[in-house]
Amino acid sequence: MAAAAATSAPQASGSPRPAVCLLVLGMAGSGKTTFVQRLTGHLHSQGSPPYVINLDPAVHEVPFPANIDIRDTVKYKEVMKQYVLIDTPGQIEVFTWSASGTIITEALASSFPTIVIYVMDTSRSTSPVTFMSNMLYACSILYKTKLPFIVVMNKTDIIDHSFAVEWMQDFEAFQDALNQETTYVSNLTRSMSLVLDEFYSSLRVVGVSAVLGTGLDELFVQVTSAAEEYEREYRPEYERLKKSLASAQSQQQKEQLERLQKDMGSVALGTGTAAETLSPMRDPSDLILSRGTLDEEDEEADSDTDDIDHRVTEESHEEPAFQNFMQESMSQYWKRNNK
Ligand code: GDP
Ligand code: MG
Repeated sequence: MAAAAATSAPQASGSPRPAVCLLVLGMAGSGKTTFVQRLTGHLHSQGSPPYVINLDPAVHEVPFPANIDIRDTVKYKEVMKQYVLIDTPGQIEVFTWSASGTIITEALASSFPTIVIYVMDTSRSTSPVTFMSNMLYACSILYKTKLPFIVVMNKTDIIDHSFAVEWMQDFEAFQDALNQETTYVSNLTRSMSLVLDEFYSSLRVVGVSAVLGTGLDELFVQVTSAAEEYEREYRPEYERLKKSLASAQSQQQKEQLERLQKDMGSVALGTGTAAETLSPMRDPSDLILSRGTLDEEDEEADSDTDDIDHRVTEESHEEPAFQNFMQESMSQYWKRNNK
């Protein structure tokens, strides 16, 4: 239930800039497939057809022409060379909290400006409690992926998204709506909304109707700004990570080579450097796909819907970071409002 799209736009300099990957996530039925389909049509009509990938093994008929299908093995390096548009419908957890979803996301994000598009069904978020649940899910995905993020409020042909925007911008308006609710959940929601206040303040939101195709121009304005954020904040971080991994790797290879030379009494091993001799990783997909302790064979053979890898979620550092974020924004909120 994730979808990603990559589109490419020429740079002012004339050289093509790297394809922008749009990773489309959202609850089942929120309209991801329809949205990806609409986007495909839109980009075709603009003369820049996207590269389409279907990542959902459970889908038997794809409603749009897919260039690559996970049902034929995904060839990451081939994918990397083209414009990409990926649809992976199914249960959201399967992608966002699984090892394979994490690997795919990181492989994309280490090479391309990658943006998460969180699609929500606006017509099913009119209750403050369901709206809040949706936002909390979006928030957790943001802190898991740490990628630029756009919320697409879909199905605006059924109901305009302005009520939701108002709830995000005006804390009192949301509290008023909550006051109509009498369940215990509303109390929980009330406290959670304090936390989300901080999340909302930096969030990009676009209202879209995937069925009618409205809102796409505004979407591309947001995509451009999110791609700039990627270049400014995420790219340097990935480069730094890549360098430090590469240097750790070549240091290790150097040590191994030195040990070998010592053992062999410096028999001619060629004039190349240690790194050249042992062919270090050459591109980011090597980096991502060879990283970590996961058994890739197992991972591929077992990539069906039950492949949530708890080792990854339990051992990752996202949860503490997320908790810190929650505590911090809670205390910031109280400070701000109790002056
Ligand atoms: P997915 O599970 O997130 O991929 O959702 P789908 O794209 O399969 O859409 C789920 C249902 O919502 C389908 O019946 C779509 O026709 C409907 N849908 C999707 N987008 C819109 C929209 O913009 N407006 C309306 N009214 N219905 C939509
Ligand atoms: Mg779908």
